[in-house]
Amino acid sequence: MRKQELYDRVTAYFEEAMPVAETELHYDNPFQLLVAVVLSAQCTDKRVNQITPPLFHDFPIPEAMAATTPEVIYEYIRSVSYPNSKARHLVGLARMLVKDYNSQVPSDLDELIKLPGVGRKTANVIQAVVFEKAAMAVDTHVFRVSHRIGLVPSTCTTPYSVEKQLVRYFPEALIPKAHHWLILHGRYVCTARSPKCDACGLKLICRHYLNTHGHPRPERNTKSEPPHTNGTAHGKGEK
Ligand code: SF4
Repeated sequence: MRKQELYDRVTAYFEEAMPVAETELHYDNPFQLLVAVVLSAQCTDKRVNQITPPLFHDFPIPEAMAATTPEVIYEYIRSVSYPNSKARHLVGLARMLVKDYNSQVPSDLDELIKLPGVGRKTANVIQAVVFEKAAMAVDTHVFRVSHRIGLVPSTCTTPYSVEKQLVRYFPEALIPKAHHWLILHGRYVCTARSPKCDACGLKLICRHYLNTHGHPRPERNTKSEPPHTNGTAHGKGEK
């Protein structure tokens, strides 16, 4: 199967099985999403959603967080991973937003990655979710699922190389959604330790499944079994 055909079939499957695909992080404005994404590094969205309500109540906008200290923020976020460094990053990025960006979250990758604690993955999430740009954030789920399905060759050993492949072959307008498709599929179906292949509607075109089960690759009709997720921001389970 040609690579573009594989992408077309994967896209068709997810469009039917997961028409709604959104971030599971809770937020009310772009600044809060940026804070939540920074907090979610090496941590679950579920944990982040547990601690952000009081944080966002007391520090809803950059000006409020810029005016406090990392020691104060630490007390709100102490149950997430790496709370010391994340507290420093959050206060630092809030101060930079106020000082250099008129308290607005920038839309450009080059500007976003200047903010403390913001790397390429976080910047791509902000670009895609807030600004609906064709940016693909590659986290552990996207990386794993892309390899298993066969969307990327095994020679793609870095998140950046996977990102480049996915952006090249998914339709541009669907790239922000494709990011969530792959994350949600990885969280609830194609899980790290024991993928639920028997319940997966992609199995007849999935490289990992075909390699491990020896089934022939059919030419059409891979959309019969939707994944076991509603594809919305209210799921549960591993990050
Ligand atoms: S068939 Fe299995 S390995 Fe392939 S995408 Fe589905 S759950 Fe993942």
